[in-house]
Amino acid sequence: MTAPFLAAAFRSIVDAVYPPACCACGGPVCRETSGAVLSETPPPGFIDDTENPFSHVMGPVLCDVCVKAFTPITPPFCPVCGNMFVSRDAEDHVCGACADFPRRFGRARAVGAYEASLMAAVHKFKYAGRTGLAGPLGMLLFLSFLRWYDPEQVDLVTPVPLHRGKLRKRGFNQSFLMIRKWHRQATAVGTVFPGEKIKRDLLVRTVKTRSQTELSRKERMLNVKGAFALTDPSAVAGKRVLVVDDVFTTGATVNECARVLLAGGAKQVDVLTLARVNS
Ligand SMILES: [Zn+2]
Ligand SMILES: [Zn+2]
Repeated sequence: MTAPFLAAAFRSIVDAVYPPACCACGGPVCRETSGAVLSETPPPGFIDDTENPFSHVMGPVLCDVCVKAFTPITPPFCPVCGNMFVSRDAEDHVCGACADFPRRFGRARAVGAYEASLMAAVHKFKYAGRTGLAGPLGMLLFLSFLRWYDPEQVDLVTPVPLHRGKLRKRGFNQSFLMIRKWHRQATAVGTVFPGEKIKRDLLVRTVKTRSQTELSRKERMLNVKGAFALTDPSAVAGKRVLVVDDVFTTGATVNECARVLLAGGAKQVDVLTLARVNS
């Protein structure tokens, strides 16, 4: 018997006793309909489904109901911040928030709305230590990157940093975990993305800020002002940088990151997040 066969046999016994649980609702995941194993390698051909690869990528970790409970971010939206308009008949136009508070970043895009199963998966990933979700969530993020950006026009990809106290407490930076295997995930979907472009520590969070959760848009902007610094300005000079975060709420955090990167000489800063709060 080969090792993979043994592993598969063992997994089927474990699954029979402990059916794999949906990472959003905890219900059973039916492997026949949702994919064989949690894998970073999607089924062949799914790269064509760039409109909504969610079910392919998340199928192995979500039940069928939660796979359907997902809203991709699609136009019409604000071309600057990616805020998706409720009216599906509207044309793309700059939203009120971007008109009132001009953004430092060029544009921000996101995979899906921060609600339902995507929100639940983010919570399990960040707060319940389900770091294995970094694989599928990172793949979703990478496919979104391919959809909205030209990889050759991006020199560096970096996560929004956590303050060192928070990093110690959580044990990982969720945004970095989602991008750190992009070079391998690129190979899995038949493209190339050099690992040297992935930079964990371009930015550092020097101030322990209050949680943004209860704050207004203006308070959020003030809360993060001056909270970030560059570790090495020469590393960003003249570069086009993509800042990655898990959730875009008002954009105050990524905007402040963009300000610091541009002040340090970056040529351009854009943003990609896994989820987005639409307002
Ligand atoms: Zn579920
Ligand atoms: Zn906007």
